[in-house]
Amino acid sequence: MKLILIGPPGSGKGTQGAILCEKYNIPEISTGAIIRNEIRSNTELGTQAKKFIDEGKLVPDSLIIDIIKERLSKDDCKNGYILDGFPRTIFQAEELDRMGIGDYVVLNLEVADEEILSRLGGRRECPSCHATYHVTDNPPKTEGVCNECGTQLIIRDDDKAETIQKRLEVYHTQTKPLKEYYSNKGVMVTAYGQKKLEDTTANVEKALAGGIQ
Ligand code: AMP
Repeated sequence: MKLILIGPPGSGKGTQGAILCEKYNIPEISTGAIIRNEIRSNTELGTQAKKFIDEGKLVPDSLIIDIIKERLSKDDCKNGYILDGFPRTIFQAEELDRMGIGDYVVLNLEVADEEILSRLGGRRECPSCHATYHVTDNPPKTEGVCNECGTQLIIRDDDKAETIQKRLEVYHTQTKPLKEYYSNKGVMVTAYGQKKLEDTTANVEKALAGGIQ
């Protein structure tokens, strides 16, 4: 199964992707996570990408496409994968089609802007194992502490208030047109993100089980 997750930042792509990759036993490939890892490792690519991420902008297509080509060529992608955060522009979507990846399904996660603003503001991340939480909607068992590894949770640099608005703008201008691109191809299903994680998960299951309309 090849599944592409699209939706605004904070719509739950990462959370749903993690649930689905376990269910289908395929890797979840998050371009955002790959880039953050490069930044932490101080690589050349990380240095180039950091200024874009910190301003809430998209990293240039050329950098991202090289990353994804490399990642999809790995052995663990043979039986499928879940793409979280790629493509994010029409150019990236066309490039992916040019790579000839075969059949895929696109899951569009719909969440209203007001909800996104509240979600991103409350998002917390574990700097060690990268599990994500939300202060009210998906809180850790102990406030501020990761359930998985006990590390103190942090706010991602690009989840800071001043960056969130920019990321949402970027979504509307550059990423939202993907909905039309994929629905015209007849490969997209839509699920509505809800406040409660399990309600979103149920909507996602229903959307995927219903198949392409
Ligand atoms: P995410 O974790 O998916 O929200 O991504 C965090 C940041 O990484 C984004 O705001 C972009 O700066 C960058 N990024 C991730 N994926 C892409 C992509 N496909 N194209 C361009 N920039 C990306």
